[in-house]
Amino acid sequence: MESRMWIWQSRAEAMVMATSRAAVVTGPGGPVEIREYPVPDPGPGEAVIRVELCGICGTDAHVFHGRLPTITFPALLGHEIVGIVTALGAGLDTDFAGRPVAVGDRIGVFPATSCGTCHTCVVLRRPGQCPRRPPSYGFKSPVDSGPPLTGGFADYLHLVNPGTVFYRTELPPEVAVLAEPMSVALHGIHRAGIGLGATVVVQGVGAIGLMVVAAARAAGAARVVAVDGSARRLALATELGADATVDITPLSPGAARHAAVREALGGSGATAVLGCSGSPEGFIEAIGYVADGGTLAELGNFTDRGAIAFNPYTDLLRRDLTITGVYGAGPDMHARYLRALEILERGGPPFTRVVSHRVPLRDVEPALRSLSTGHQLYGTDVVKIAIDPAR
Ligand SMILES: [Zn+2]
Ligand SMILES: [Zn+2]
Repeated sequence: MESRMWIWQSRAEAMVMATSRAAVVTGPGGPVEIREYPVPDPGPGEAVIRVELCGICGTDAHVFHGRLPTITFPALLGHEIVGIVTALGAGLDTDFAGRPVAVGDRIGVFPATSCGTCHTCVVLRRPGQCPRRPPSYGFKSPVDSGPPLTGGFADYLHLVNPGTVFYRTELPPEVAVLAEPMSVALHGIHRAGIGLGATVVVQGVGAIGLMVVAAARAAGAARVVAVDGSARRLALATELGADATVDITPLSPGAARHAAVREALGGSGATAVLGCSGSPEGFIEAIGYVADGGTLAELGNFTDRGAIAFNPYTDLLRRDLTITGVYGAGPDMHARYLRALEILERGGPPFTRVVSHRVPLRDVEPALRSLSTGHQLYGTDVVKIAIDPAR
């Protein structure tokens, strides 16, 4: 009876709200405009969800500033999406794990789809580069080329890609919205080879770095040190499982920071460093945190921020280091997203506190700008911003 009430309420709600607002980026650097589109009836295999929360990440900020050449404007962004199913097209009645899904259920949507059958998907194991893949949710552009409501910065999202990967979840939306950054973190943990007894430095504890802290702990790390310039983010890193933190604000780059991190590790380098700072200078600094023989997994430099001097002898060979790139959630992205949800569902660390700002659609533009202007919004430090269309 209770679940029927749910369905009825959701249908009534959908009928009242026949249009959906969408915060559309009209050109590189803005402005962002609220536009209205009709809420569609899903075709066979499609679905419509009411967006509860959609995370903003560094990639959105880069796209906003016009730094992703594949995006043309006007564009509707937003790819870390959690919402309530309001309509299901014919033939769609389970999530990607085969569990029944119905109107009223909460789902987390993995933004990328791949064909799963081509050479790139099967042999090269690079589904994120599948040449047959449709644009990911939050990356299709321009907004009016085909169904418009395919980005998360809107009241409703239209799941149009065949084989869209989504999972039902009971998590509160502010935790479920972390599944996408957590899936990237899990790829990083895998690439860094973190297991029992690892000593770990997480450099940069924005949302992905915080997920790395929690995941490293879950993977059996013996000691986890968080390095950042924000006291608020470092405090949260401690709550999510860091044993020690290093605030780099008063320390000059190079020797002073290396000494502080070594001290926090108990006198040596780390067996694994996860670079989540997103700057080329930070990448070189992270190499200095690694113990000889250890691994640096770089997650942060996700877009081109320029080149940097690197000495293959002193920075790599002499020290027997492994340096590995972590591009998104990796070859097993759809599995990682499910594992991420399961780790979040298991609970423990206070994941509910990671979203620091719930922002209405009208503030998408200041939210996007805040990521490249000192990570402050409404006068406080940003940890994770999520767009909340109901606000
Ligand atoms: Zn993202
Ligand atoms: Zn493919």
